[in-house]
Amino acid sequence: MTLSASLRTVLAAARALHDTRADLQTFAHFPDWAPSVNLAPQPIPAVPLVAGCTAADHPETRALALAVRAAAPLASWEQTYSEAEVGRDFLNRYGYFELLGPTGHFHSRSLRGYIAYWGPGLDYGWHAHAAEELYLCLAGAAEFHAEGRAPRILRPGESLVHDANQPHAMRTTDSPILTWVLWRGQDLGGQARMVPKAVA
Ligand code: ZN
Repeated sequence: MTLSASLRTVLAAARALHDTRADLQTFAHFPDWAPSVNLAPQPIPAVPLVAGCTAADHPETRALALAVRAAAPLASWEQTYSEAEVGRDFLNRYGYFELLGPTGHFHSRSLRGYIAYWGPGLDYGWHAHAAEELYLCLAGAAEFHAEGRAPRILRPGESLVHDANQPHAMRTTDSPILTWVLWRGQDLGGQARMVPKAVA
């Protein structure tokens, strides 16, 4: 499959998932039109891990997870953090790409949608961003922490929301996690930044 067709399959699966889920629809409207930007593939060390990810999924998330696995070698992967911040092992087993958004494979100014992956046993420290965020677990599981809330294990098919600027953190256990992450609201083109540890 070509790059464009492969990523269009991911977008179509994300749209179809959105159409079946009240939590996603409540969070944001999926853009009716998002033109392809033809970003070049940008591989990272975790691409084979994503392509081979067989962690438990959910009937509703399976189509998107499979589309992501197939498109993984062609996506324009990014890593927000430096080795000094998170270490080499973290960078070898984590990454994300912006499927939809201001700088994504498909352009939108109203909604940002990322596919993000973390391998087993990774500790994603406290961070925050101005945009409001919804995490949907496509496959695997992780423990999510957010300031002012009890920790919660997010499993396939489950979602949670972070408020604007609410510090949050995440830890995978013996399973990786593959997620679909939506951003809405302020600073849609911004990035997460590490923040001091919050008391959950
Ligand atoms: Zn976040």
